[in-house]
Amino acid sequence: RTVYVNGDYLPEGDAKISIFDRGFLMADGVYEVTSVLGGKLIDFEGHAVRLKRSLDELEMAEPCSKEELLEIHRKLVALNEIEEGLVYLQVTRGSDGDRDFVFPSADTKPTIVLFTQNKPGLADSPAAKKGAKIISIEDIRWGRRDIKTVQLLYPSMGKMMAKKAGADDAWMIEDGHVTEGTSNNAYFVKNGVIVTRPLSNDILHGITRKAVLRMAEEAQMKIEERLFTIEEAKEADEAFTTSASAFVMPVVEIDGVALGDGTPGPITKRLREIYLEESMNAAI
Ligand code: PMP
Repeated sequence: RTVYVNGDYLPEGDAKISIFDRGFLMADGVYEVTSVLGGKLIDFEGHAVRLKRSLDELEMAEPCSKEELLEIHRKLVALNEIEEGLVYLQVTRGSDGDRDFVFPSADTKPTIVLFTQNKPGLADSPAAKKGAKIISIEDIRWGRRDIKTVQLLYPSMGKMMAKKAGADDAWMIEDGHVTEGTSNNAYFVKNGVIVTRPLSNDILHGITRKAVLRMAEEAQMKIEERLFTIEEAKEADEAFTTSASAFVMPVVEIDGVALGDGTPGPITKRLREIYLEESMNAAI
């Protein structure tokens, strides 16, 4: 694999980062994942805009322009011959060569790394045909989940809790309400109405969420953005998650309770189809 590190395209084994990098020592960094279908980038613009916002919120410098970012994405997709897969991008605050809680001076160069992941069959995934089983767990993450930081230890532990329980993923609960999935936004459908939590600092502002809600509205579907409990979701007709890497993923079981007939619901399946078709048409 050819990867990108601070201006250079290198074989992955030759890429180097300082051990003092604050991304490594303090999880002081942000990331984006953009999917690739048909060799093209899905919603690059959305990811670039959110990256800028994450950097601004953490007073971190932009490593390069949006145009350069697009060029790097495209070059890596071409060099690694990715038809279906992902481009992972990470920007960290870098380092001035020591460990300190105080941010290094503003002229310290951020570290930027990009790599691709080849995922043949990403769009036509067997997992999406089956649907996911989820469990609910407490949400004990920090209070700025709207910033896409690389602090992924708790989401990673949540995913492991799900695996150990024989499920695929976990939804997190705070103050009695579902926040989101470990790496996706959460929805249920009851009597034809799509329900999802409104945007705030409590959840990531999903790029896929934004696109899917727009497409649902255009398809005359009913949407309610409001807080909801896991009990409500368990009594739903359907449920699903959205993320850039899994698109619209049906949820067929919550805490051992099957939803509907235990297979992906019709509104969920329709949304997945619409999302994939429209996103591929708009891909660059
Ligand atoms: N919430 C969390 C916690 C996530 O990690 C992700 C995916 N990175 C999402 C939601 C979905 O966001 P997107 O649609 O932009 O991938």
